[in-house]
Amino acid sequence: MSDCIFCKIASGDIPAKKAFEDDDMVVFHDINPVAPVHLLAIPKRHIASLADARPEDALVMGKLLQTGARLAVEHGCTDGFRTLVNTGRVGRQEVYHLHIHFVGGPDVLPPMLKR
Ligand code: 5GP
Ligand code: ZN
Repeated sequence: MSDCIFCKIASGDIPAKKAFEDDDMVVFHDINPVAPVHLLAIPKRHIASLADARPEDALVMGKLLQTGARLAVEHGCTDGFRTLVNTGRVGRQEVYHLHIHFVGGPDVLPPMLKR
């Protein structure tokens, strides 16, 4: 996807503060963090959203979760963190390239959603 900002981060065309990279995925720091630790884990292959993931994407999606969790802990989230995937209009997704947020820090997270 030539006009996708996260594809450009994956290819290195746009700089990002990368915490991890391999053939399948990248983990990098969110440019506008909501907490002291705010990492984004993305597949290198363009998948527009979680709703667009196919069965053959399951392996890389598992890698995103496992690797992102390891990096969150390594970045200081030793007492927990939150994972979040915003999907589509209702989920208020802003960047249409699948990404998992890993958010944490010392006791800064509010309850998940207002009831
Ligand atoms: P969404 O609302 O789609 O779940 O989240 C998109 C996230 O991507 C936001 O938290 C936003 O700050 C982050 N973001 C958008 N553009 C860039 C960028 O160019 N570089 C980095 N590192 N993060 C970005
Ligand atoms: Zn993309």
